[in-house]
Amino acid sequence: MAKTYRDILKWGDKRETQLDDGTLHVIKEKFGYSDTELKHKHLTGNQEIIIKKSCSLKETILDEFTQIVGKENIETSDFERANHSFGKYYTDLVKLRKGEIETPPDAVLYPKNDEDIVQILAICNKNKIAVTPIGGQSSVTRGVETPQGGISLDLTRYLNKVLEVNEINHTVRVQTGMFGPAFEEYLNNYGIKYSCGHFPQSFEYSTVGGWLAAKGAGQASTGYGKIEDMVLSVKVVTPKGVIHTKTYPASAQGWDIHPIFIGSEGSLGVITEVTMKIRKYQPENTRFTSFIFKDFETAVTAMRTVMQSGIGVPHLFRISDPEETEIAFKTKNFEGTFADKFLNFKGFQSGKRCLMFVAVEGSKSYTKQVVSSIKKIAKKHKAFSTGAKPTKKWLEQRYSSAYLRDPLMDIGVMTDTLETAVLWDNLIPLWKAVRKYLKSRDKTVAMVHISHVYENGANLYFTFLSPMKKGNEIEEYREYHKGIIETIQANNGSLSHHHGVGRTLAPWMEQELGTKSIELMQAIKDHLDPNGIMNPGNTLGLKP
Ligand SMILES: Cc1cc2nc3c(=O)[nH]c(=O)nc-3n(C[C@H](O)[C@H](O)[C@H](O)COP(=O)(O)OP(=O)(O)OC[C@H]3O[C@@H](n4cnc5c(N)ncnc54)[C@H](O)[C@@H]3O)c2cc1C
Repeated sequence: MAKTYRDILKWGDKRETQLDDGTLHVIKEKFGYSDTELKHKHLTGNQEIIIKKSCSLKETILDEFTQIVGKENIETSDFERANHSFGKYYTDLVKLRKGEIETPPDAVLYPKNDEDIVQILAICNKNKIAVTPIGGQSSVTRGVETPQGGISLDLTRYLNKVLEVNEINHTVRVQTGMFGPAFEEYLNNYGIKYSCGHFPQSFEYSTVGGWLAAKGAGQASTGYGKIEDMVLSVKVVTPKGVIHTKTYPASAQGWDIHPIFIGSEGSLGVITEVTMKIRKYQPENTRFTSFIFKDFETAVTAMRTVMQSGIGVPHLFRISDPEETEIAFKTKNFEGTFADKFLNFKGFQSGKRCLMFVAVEGSKSYTKQVVSSIKKIAKKHKAFSTGAKPTKKWLEQRYSSAYLRDPLMDIGVMTDTLETAVLWDNLIPLWKAVRKYLKSRDKTVAMVHISHVYENGANLYFTFLSPMKKGNEIEEYREYHKGIIETIQANNGSLSHHHGVGRTLAPWMEQELGTKSIELMQAIKDHLDPNGIMNPGNTLGLKP
């Protein structure tokens, strides 16, 4: 059967995800959609894939590539080129649904090893052919697009193995095309059992290389840190040659080199290997708890107190703001139950109350002590303790909740997420300002949570759902998205906390970093990639 755009755009389990009754109820209530309207599917992407732009690479170049990787590892079919044209950003999905692929890669190459990559980059550098390193393609910042065509260098077919685990040093050396689940399973079954500690919501479909290149954060980042806190050394193939940094627990030999490549988003070279920290895997000791606070401000103060008290830190630490809490309750049919009425009676009023989730990992004594201290702090802030179950339930649907985006878009819902990092003293003003902006669009559901927490501040993560303006889906989204970014910047939030920059946020990079800093980044780029072949077209705000 011919492949369709929908085969590419779907996220998650390839079976069609249906909207549950709770979510449909919310959509009907908030957007006023009727049952008939809900049956009408909008831009499903069920058309057969046809790419108008043919491969523009010369036969001689294709022959050279074939000699390196073999015929079976070079793809120029419409499906493979379409499949490597986009990540999972909202407008990527709209374009796929419309069948609009203007600048596909000319070819997709699957290198078998580092040496293949060295040779491929040499050819591309000589002939000025664009190269885009590809992991799981879960980028939500237009990071894997190929505006100048060229080749998509997909590392997931061969560069997907653990090379070495060192149980004395607690380190793992891994190839970057390895997907999250395979990596974690390997570590969970190795020796005394280990964990990588990095679990983004896209875990099932993202790779170690993508985590590094886009500078991600997982749900346990409050305990284990972001990806940059886990990396000890990297191997990178650049157009200028191979850089392989040495592995030390720390050093003082000038500035460190490997951090330059974390967050480089394919713009400097191909990260082929990384040495990362690992930790003991002991899920039997993990303790879960949860609370409801009377309002967001109090929940945030309690969270900050935990992070600044020296009592140890939880690994998973989240607060949902009042609207996110209410939507969670509505979709789980909690509204109107005895428990709901009891909470309202006790002063935990719907529209104001906030959920907090906590999970602590480590030794038995550590988890016991940290959870007990958090409970004391929560009690001081008049929280209602709701036990382990809500956090466990949340974790069960953590990955699959993202699968809902496709059926939501099918019924004409514009939905996306944005995130920022902010110091504690700016957090509440920023939350209020962005919420106000989000709500300026009629009938918009604006849900906010904190999910990555530090001694000095936290992230804010915004999810919005709003009726699409059919026929003008991309332009109206861009306009709205621009307003959100500008509101974040005007209220002292970072441009990104863990999604990276890509091409989506590139226009704001100079303002964010300052001219001198962007010039410094450009100088590094120009040194390592003098012909501008690595992920070109404004990635990170870099030229060309
Ligand atoms: C539903 C959903 C949920 C998400 N949740 C999270 C989350 O919780 N936390 C989070 O951090 N992110 C999240 N993301 C964003 C995304 O998954 C991350 O940015 C992820 O790290 C990208 O990994 P990937 O393997 O898919 O990389 P890709 O999308 O393939 O690539 C991302 C960028 O990195 C570059 N790149 C990839 N591999 C290499 C390499 N080996 N060398 C050099 N450059 C490379 C690419 O060129 C591109 O610029 C989410 C995305 C989706 C769709």
